[in-house]
Amino acid sequence: MSEDAADELLLRLRRFQSDYFPLHQQRFQDLVAEGQHPKTLFIGCSDSRLVPYLLTGTGPGELFIVRNVGAFIPPYDGSHGLHGTMAAIEYAVLTLHVERIIVCGHSHCGAIRAAYEGVPEEAVALQAWLKLATEALLPVQPCAEAMRRTEQRSVVLQLERLMDYPMVRREVEGGRLTLHGWHYVIEAGEIHIFDVRQGNFVPASLASSSGTGPYQPYVEHDGQIISD
Ligand SMILES: [Zn+2]
Repeated sequence: MSEDAADELLLRLRRFQSDYFPLHQQRFQDLVAEGQHPKTLFIGCSDSRLVPYLLTGTGPGELFIVRNVGAFIPPYDGSHGLHGTMAAIEYAVLTLHVERIIVCGHSHCGAIRAAYEGVPEEAVALQAWLKLATEALLPVQPCAEAMRRTEQRSVVLQLERLMDYPMVRREVEGGRLTLHGWHYVIEAGEIHIFDVRQGNFVPASLASSSGTGPYQPYVEHDGQIISD
C-alpha cells in the first residue's frame, strides 16, 4: 500500500487544492486583497453533525465562526481570563462589526446530555464548562422531550449572557446588531428559530424571520407588539 492510500486526509487536502480551489480562486483572492467582512458571527456547538456553511448556504468570507462544546457563552465578568469564545465575540463585534450573532444548539447534543449525566472525573475543564448550562436544566429525568427543551432553553440562556457583554448590548440597543437563537434538528434537517414574541421555537418552514433574538427593540401598542 502506498503512503498516499494510507493517508486519506492527505488525499483530501490535495483534492481541495486541485478540484475545489480553482472554482473559487477569485473569491479567495478577493478576500485576501480586500480582507474579510463577514456580517455574521456564528457561535455553534462543536458537534460534527452541525455544518454551518451547509445550513446557511454560505461560503468563504461570510461566517465568522466560533465553536465550543454546547455552543455556550461564558459570563462576562471582566476577569480577562484566557477565553477563546469571549475573545471571538469581542473581535467580531468591535473589529469586524458583524450585524448578527447566531447561537446554534442542536438535537441530541452530547454537551446537554453530559450536563445531566456527568463526565469522567479527569475532565475537569469540561466539568466546569458544562456549568454554563446548569440554569437550563430541568428537574426531570432527561427523556427525549426534556433533552429537546433543555437544548432550546440553553440557547436562550446563552443569548441572555451575550447581552451582558457591554459591546453586544450597546450594538443591539443601537439597532446595529441582532441576536438569533437557533436549535438545529439534525434528523429533520431543520432549524427551529427562537421567536421572542411567542417565547418559543418555531420551525424555519413556519417562521417569519431568521430570528431577532430576545432584545430586538420593540414597542407594545394597543395590545399588539409591533416591530420598531
Ligand atoms: Zn452539541
